[in-house]
Amino acid sequence: MTAYLDNASTTRLRPEVLQAMLPVLRDVHGNPSSIHAAGRRARRVIEDARELIADRIKVSPLQVIFTSGATEANNLALFGTAPKRLVASGIEHESVLRASQRFSDVVTLPVDAQGRVSRIDLERALPASLVSVMMVNNEVGTIQPVAELADVAHAHGALMHVDAVQALGKIPFDFPSIGADLASLSSHKIHGPKGVGALIVRDAARVRPILYGGAQEFEKRAGTENVAGIVGFAKAVELAFRDLPSMARVAALRDRLESSLGGSVNGDPSRRAPHISNLRFDGVDGEALVMALDGKGVCVSAGSACAALGTEPSHVLQAMGLSPDAVRSSVRFSLALDTSDDEVDEALRAVREVLENLEKVK
Ligand code: PMP
Repeated sequence: MTAYLDNASTTRLRPEVLQAMLPVLRDVHGNPSSIHAAGRRARRVIEDARELIADRIKVSPLQVIFTSGATEANNLALFGTAPKRLVASGIEHESVLRASQRFSDVVTLPVDAQGRVSRIDLERALPASLVSVMMVNNEVGTIQPVAELADVAHAHGALMHVDAVQALGKIPFDFPSIGADLASLSSHKIHGPKGVGALIVRDAARVRPILYGGAQEFEKRAGTENVAGIVGFAKAVELAFRDLPSMARVAALRDRLESSLGGSVNGDPSRRAPHISNLRFDGVDGEALVMALDGKGVCVSAGSACAALGTEPSHVLQAMGLSPDAVRSSVRFSLALDTSDDEVDEALRAVREVLENLEKVK
C-alpha cells in the first residue's frame, strides 16, 4: 500500500472533476473567441465556470481572470501593478519571492517563530504601493491575519495582494472578507487539474497584462483559454466549498499523525490550516527521511516541491528563526479530503520503521 501525504504540493484529481472535464475535452473543440456556434459553445462553458467560481468566492464574474496557475497569478499581481515599492513577507511562495527580486525597492517583512507577520512590522515597512502576504503558508500552514494586514496596507495607500492558494478549500475563504485587492488561486491544490488558476481582482483597471496578444480575459491575459482546465477548476471549487466541513476530519487525522509521531510542530498550533503538518525530528536528516519513506511507498516532502528542485534549505523555516540543524531535520506531511485512515496508519508505520533504522546507523 502507498500513502500520499504530499497534498500541499498537489492533489489527486477528483473523479467528479474528471467527469466534468471529459465531455469538454471530447466535444467542445471551438475557440471561445470565435463567433460561430462551436466558439460560442466553448465561450458559454467558460463563462458558466467563471460564474460558479465568482459565486462561491463572492465576487462578480468580471473580477475573475483565469491564468495558467498561481505562479502566473502571482506574477500578474506583481508585474501587473508594477509597484514602485513592494512589501512582501519573507515566507511567500517562490513565485512571489523570485518575482519580487525584479523590483528595485522591496522590503521583506519578518515573521515570528510561528511564521506570523505582525501588523506592527507592516506599519513600519509602509508606505508602499503593494503589499503581498499569503493567507496560508504552504510549508507550515500558518494562517496570516490578512484582513487586518489589508486594513493597514489600505490606510497607507497600498494595494494588498494575497496568495490564497493554500487557503481555498481548506479554511473558510471568500474574497470580500479578506479585504484584499488581488488574490491568487490554483486549481490543482483542490483536486482540480494542473495548469489552471486565477487572479481575483477588486478593480481590473489597476492591473496591466503581462502577456500580450488576443483580447481574452478582459484584455488582462492573452491566449486561448484552457477550456477543459477551467471547467475542471470550477468543478473542484464547487466540491471544495461543499465539502469544507469535512476538513474537520482532515484536521483530526493530522492531529492523530502528530500525536503518534511525536516530532515538534513547526508553525502556529493555534492558527494553522488543517491539512499541513511540518514536523521536526531532532537529530534526523529530513531529506534522508523523505527518501527512505519514498522507498516504502510514502510520499512526503522536506520543504515545498518548488524549492525541492534546488538544494536550498527551506526559506520559510529559516525566516521563522530555526537553526540550520532544525531546518534540516524538518519534514512536511500534508493531507487532503481524500486522505484515508489507512494512509495515515501506513505513514505512521513507515516513519517509525525508518526512524528506528536511521537511529541504528548513527
Ligand atoms: N503559491 C502557493 C502558496 C503554492 O503553494 C503554490 C504551489 N506550490 C503556488 C503559489 C504556485 O501554484 P501553481 O502550481 O498553480 O503555479
